[in-house]
Amino acid sequence: MATTHDHPHDGAARIIDGKHLSEVVRSDLRARIAASGRAVRLDAVLVGDDRAAGIYAANQARTCEEVGIRYVLHRLPATAGYEDIAGRVLLLNADEDVRAVMLHMPLPAGIDSERIQSLIAPEKDVEGVNPANIGNVVYGRRSLVPCTALAALEMIEHTGIDLRGKRCAVVGASNIVGKPIAVLLMREDATVHSTNKFTPALPALARECDVIVAACGVPRLVTAEWVKPGAVVVDVGINRVAGPDGTKVTVGDVDFDAVRRVASWISPVPGGVGPMTVAMLLRNVVDAALR
Ligand code: NAD
Repeated sequence: MATTHDHPHDGAARIIDGKHLSEVVRSDLRARIAASGRAVRLDAVLVGDDRAAGIYAANQARTCEEVGIRYVLHRLPATAGYEDIAGRVLLLNADEDVRAVMLHMPLPAGIDSERIQSLIAPEKDVEGVNPANIGNVVYGRRSLVPCTALAALEMIEHTGIDLRGKRCAVVGASNIVGKPIAVLLMREDATVHSTNKFTPALPALARECDVIVAACGVPRLVTAEWVKPGAVVVDVGINRVAGPDGTKVTVGDVDFDAVRRVASWISPVPGGVGPMTVAMLLRNVVDAALR
């Protein structure tokens, strides 16, 4: 695809269409699975009866089946303790037929999620939540990378920008989203500012950057004043806020309508990083299974 990076900016930004890109990834995965002649499955552990997690799991089952991945859901009761959940993860680690494992959040109150996540065998950890996988990302080793971070990078790369020597601002530095995005950008030889709610004069800093990734969970924080003309803006945020008529709408961390007039490329919410994150999970599953 042609890029606008070498041209002066004139008019509205191009849209990084996460829905379309995710469909391209899925059809590629379907073909890879078919060509491999192997069975690919994802084993997911769901503890308790959290309604949102249940809906998420049901959607995930459908999404997996659409690309030819068998989805095996392991349900544990809300009364399950650390030993029960850890025991199930260790069983899945030991099962040679299982190549991809994930853990639905939240776990019941009082259970140390990070401790359980760190038990998932790194080569089966398709959400990239075991700290060993983040360590591998830093070292540039082949490993499973957190899906949202992969999605953000794929979307930036889709614009055709050469990240080497470019300045990037990652707004938000959580362990599972902001930090891995910053590390992936560093691996592309970009100059990366990892920023957080304590960063002084953040709008001015962002305005010097060629790429802005917004992942802070603050609705429409990134306004047009933050954005250098022609910059690439990727919006990871998913926020439910009251719309003009009082009903709830989903918005990102970027003021889309205003930023669109300044950026060269922008990802929308919904229809941006969200669907691409799902596609990256499926890709991690296929990578883990066919490795
Ligand atoms: P988090 O709350 O764990 O971390 C937020 C980070 O943003 C922190 O580092 C914090 O210091 C920083 N921050 C908060 N306010 C800020 C401000 N005013 N200026 C600069 N930095 C600020 O959140 P998270 O789990 O990393 O999620 C971030 C956003 O991404 C949320 O909107 C979440 O819903 C969304 N998300 C999307 C996906 C996806 O698939 N698209 C996946 C995970 C999270």
